[in-house]
Order: sequence, then structure tokens, then C-alpha cells
Amino acid sequence: MKTIDPVLKEIASIFDSYGKELYLVGGAVRDMLRGKKIHDWDLATSATPEEVTGMMRSAGGKVIPTGIKHGTVTVIYKAQMEITTFRTEADYTDGRRPDKVHYAATIKEDLSRRDFTMNAIALRLTDGEIADPFGGAKDIKAGIIRCVGNADERFGEDGLRPLRAVRFASQLGFKIEKNTLNAINGALGVCAKVSWERVRDEIDKILNSPVPSLGFLLMEKTGLLKLFLNELALCRGIEQKGFHNFDVLDHSLYACDYAAAKGYSKELRLASLFHDVGKPKVREMDNGVWSFHRHEEVSSSMCREIMNRLRYSNAEIDKVCHLIKEHMFFYTEDWTDAAVRRFIARIGEEHLKDIYLLRFCDVYGFSGKPPDSRFLMDLISRVEKTLAQGRAFTLKDLAAGGDDLKTLGIPAGKIMGNILKELLETVLDDPQQNTREKLLEIAMKIYNER
Ligand code: ATP
Ligand code: MG
Repeated sequence: MKTIDPVLKEIASIFDSYGKELYLVGGAVRDMLRGKKIHDWDLATSATPEEVTGMMRSAGGKVIPTGIKHGTVTVIYKAQMEITTFRTEADYTDGRRPDKVHYAATIKEDLSRRDFTMNAIALRLTDGEIADPFGGAKDIKAGIIRCVGNADERFGEDGLRPLRAVRFASQLGFKIEKNTLNAINGALGVCAKVSWERVRDEIDKILNSPVPSLGFLLMEKTGLLKLFLNELALCRGIEQKGFHNFDVLDHSLYACDYAAAKGYSKELRLASLFHDVGKPKVREMDNGVWSFHRHEEVSSSMCREIMNRLRYSNAEIDKVCHLIKEHMFFYTEDWTDAAVRRFIARIGEEHLKDIYLLRFCDVYGFSGKPPDSRFLMDLISRVEKTLAQGRAFTLKDLAAGGDDLKTLGIPAGKIMGNILKELLETVLDDPQQNTREKLLEIAMKIYNER
């Protein structure tokens, strides 16, 4: 076991001098027992939040009442940590949050309200003594996620816990113990009451785990996928023989696994996961083969609905949906230079790298093999050459803008917008046209011929 950080020891001795106990709890102890790096410090104490505030301020620390309703304060003293008063949680009526928090007298009582045995271990910071009343250390060693006490009751109290179980299984590569796993189905009604933000945070953690498909397949098995991401659940059994070995759900999960394995961004993992989500809706039988005409557009708009529901930021939504909408580009060597410029303009310079990476994930998702090293190289090198020529790819790059058109008497608004778009098309076709005089001449012509 790793030695206790000196800062924590110092704080524990301050608490001790006031006759208060201080324990390291939660993920930090779990990670310590697994021999992993600790990423955040959750502490539990017999002192009330007011007492913690008084002690730490006298010692020169900063205290912020971040979760005072739940007995939690954030302390900044040489490092940042959350300190929560021992508590029990009683009277859950909505399956979301305890109605009231009651302080508890002992660490054991505090540990008994925690979700899983692996999360219900405490380390006393004065002497390193471990409190593990539910056999958490043994479960960690065996790689098992098990509810503290009765699984039906624990899940009935807080509908987020089943999703946490699945997320931990995905993050840690642990198995969910049978009774705990079986209890999830009966808790789905309570799970449905959890706020979308909390669901989103867990989905993000699954996406960020080494093999996200582990988490999503467990969600499918337990009914959580249907509840939170039904659009994906409906991709099960959508065969696409002719293109793919796998059905649409497995294909999407493998694509997402590849994004995770390569350490690609969260947006790329989301785009891989949802890039074909519209396929069940658009599927048509065509001469004995399934076709999925314009599925990228439907997938993109469905993904927007899903991500909105999950309260992702607009920036994340726009990026992911743009990548999905454009994921079906089909490059051949006979593309003209103008076609390459149009491709750059359509994708947007800042998204080019991601659109290639999304294609890599897509290829992996249908073959189970990474693309070979030459894949897309021809397109990529032509795009790079074209970019190096410094041509115009957006309205901003045009040699004449809205202000110039106004001097010709063209009013701002929809007409001007359309004229500018046409100017860009002209320049993408023939970059020589991108001079102020030429563009103004063309603009006038379009305006007069309307
Ligand atoms: P990580 O921080 O890596 O996500 P963690 O175990 O520290 O994992 P937190 O959400 O930070 O998870 O919670 C800290 C501890 O609080 C947990 O280990 C667990 O003991 C307890 N806990 C958190 N959420 C719940 C919950 N919904 N029900 C019961 N106990 C919980
Ligand atoms: Mg934590």
C-alpha cells in the first residue's frame, strides 16, 4: 500500500488535536488498494461542517461551502479536498436524492450508506488503519462490484446507482455480482427519475473508459440502454450484410472502442457511437440488399436530439453532429482540384483531422481491423497541398465581403447572403476569380439578373 500523503497526515493531526476523526474514503481508497494513481481526495469526518470550517480557517486554510446541504465543504490547504461529515441518508422518496441528511456518529454507519462494497472502505489518516466492514478489499481483489447490503433496496433508494455499477464495470474492467446485476431490472422505474445531467456524467465516464462497449453492452443487458439511449438499443439486429459483418449496434460500439483505444477526443467517441443511429429509420430493401440512403443526415439530427436531451453543450453537439453529417464522403482519385477545395470548404479546416479519424473508427467498426497505413493518404496529401496554396475556403477568405457589396447598393440580408455564397462557389471552382474587382463584377451581374 502506498504511504499516506504528508498533507493529509498534517490535516489529520489538526483534526486529532480537536478530538475529531478524519478518514480517506471513496474512490481514493479504492484506487489505492488497486495500486492506481489517486485522482481526487474525498474525506469523511466526525466534525460538523461548521467545525471543519473553524479548524481549517484557524490553520490558515480556505474553506468553501460547496455542498453544505449534504454536509460537504471543499477545503484548500496545500491541496484541494472535499470533507464530508459522517452521515446516513434516510427518507428517499423520489429516487434521486435523499430528502434529508442525518449526521452519523461513526465511520461504520457512514460506510453503510455507500453504494458498493469497493466504495465503502475508509482509511484512518492518523495511523493508516483500514475500516472495511463489508469486505470491499476482497471484492476489489476479485474484481467484483457488489451493493452494500440489499441490492434491491440500495437501487430503489437512488436510481443513479445501477448506472454507476455499469460505469464502474466499464472503467475498472470489473464484473457486477449476480444479485446486484439482477436487481437492476427491477429498479428501472427509479432510474427513469434521475436527472439527465447525472446520466450524462456517467455516460461520459463510460466513453472515457478503456473499452466503452463493455459499459454499453451491460447497459443493453440490464435494460438501461433502452431507458436512456433507446435509439441505440433499436440498432440491435439491424443487419447490413453486403457492407458489414456486424449489426448496426455492434458496429457502432466497435467504432467507439477504436476511438477509445486510440485516445481520440470525447467528441469523436460520441460521433463513433452515434454515426449510424439513423439507420433503422431509413433502411430499405433494394434488390435483396439493405440500403440506408441518406442515413448520415438522419443520424446527425437524431444525435442532436439525444445530445440535447443529455444536456451536452452546444459546442459539443455542433461538432459531433457536423462530423456525423459529413461522415459518408467518398473520395476517388479522379476528384478534381475543385472537388478537393469543395471538400475542405464543406468539412471546415478545423474539422478535417477529425473527419479522417471518424472514418478510421468506422472502418474498424465493420472489419474489426484498423485501416492500413495508406488508407485515405491520397486524399489527405491532396488536402494538405491545397491548404498550403492558401486559397479561399470560407466567406471570410473572399476578396470582397458584405461591406463591399453594400457599396454597390446590394442590401444586407438574405439576398446578399446568397450572393456571397455564390461568390464562394465561383472561387472554389476557380481560385483566380478571387480578386475584389472580379467578385464585385460577378456580384453585380447576379444581383441584376435576379
Ligand atoms: P470517481 O471519483 O472515480 O468517479 P468515486 O468512487 O470517488 O469514483 P464519487 O462520485 O466521487 O465516486 O463518490 C465518492 C464516494 O461517495 C463513492 O466512492 C461512494 O462511497 C459514495 N457515493 C457516491 N455516489 C453515491 C451514490 N449515488 N450512492 C451511494 N454512495 C455514493
Ligand atoms: Mg471521487
